[in-house]
Amino acid sequence: MYRYETHMHTCQGSACGSSTGAEHARFYKERGYQGIFITDHFFGGNTAAPRTGSWKDRVDHYCAGFEDAWNEGQKIGLDVFFGIEQNFQGDEYLIYGLSKQYLLDHPEIERWTRRETYENVRAAGGCMLQAHPFRMRGYLSAIRVCDLYADGIEVANAGNTPAQDAYAMRYCKAKGIYTIAGSDNHKSHEGSTLFGVALDKPVVSAAEWVQHILQKQPHTLLVPEGRFDADPTAEPLIPAYWYNEQEEFVELPMGWLK
Ligand SMILES: [Zn+2]
Ligand SMILES: [Zn+2]
Repeated sequence: MYRYETHMHTCQGSACGSSTGAEHARFYKERGYQGIFITDHFFGGNTAAPRTGSWKDRVDHYCAGFEDAWNEGQKIGLDVFFGIEQNFQGDEYLIYGLSKQYLLDHPEIERWTRRETYENVRAAGGCMLQAHPFRMRGYLSAIRVCDLYADGIEVANAGNTPAQDAYAMRYCKAKGIYTIAGSDNHKSHEGSTLFGVALDKPVVSAAEWVQHILQKQPHTLLVPEGRFDADPTAEPLIPAYWYNEQEEFVELPMGWLK
């Protein structure tokens, strides 16, 4: 099996990151991963890049953690791929298959709505999945689910509680939504519990990973035993909304939870 991290942050690209790209790369190599996707917080979220200044400087800064990881990966034999995590109103999305050059060429990306982001990412040969949709935490006033403009959902996130992931798994099962798991790793250290996915053949490029997702090919979710077994309702939901075709949030229908 070939293990991949799908969701992680460096201190160069994300304001909340603690490990450098190179430190992360060495850690994942030691833990037996074949590859990692660096998904630093983009400009809608907790980015470490400046909010003002030239677009090129901002993108250079944003990509620094990925580049550090990639260079280290070349030395030690770890595949390092570029990804993005974009934030709208606390709802966040993992984007794969774009490149630094794409960002340089599309400064309008930071003003795109969810739907525009999704359509442009797909048109560019990438894909977009919602990260941790049922996360409940102090900084979030509501749950905002957007599966209409996403190719899947991160159903398990190491920063969530098991109940929050159990909600996500029930939702995806009921609606037939493709699932991935990720650590959302901000710091690689001894005690880190790593999530991710395992495939029976290696992923040689981000483009191949995008095809894997778009073709809904199977993989194993790397999550702790019994991760989705808890009764999610032990942790009551905060107000929950669903993003519709008019790009409006309406109350999330709850039939899937029965
Ligand atoms: Zn973060
Ligand atoms: Zn994240």
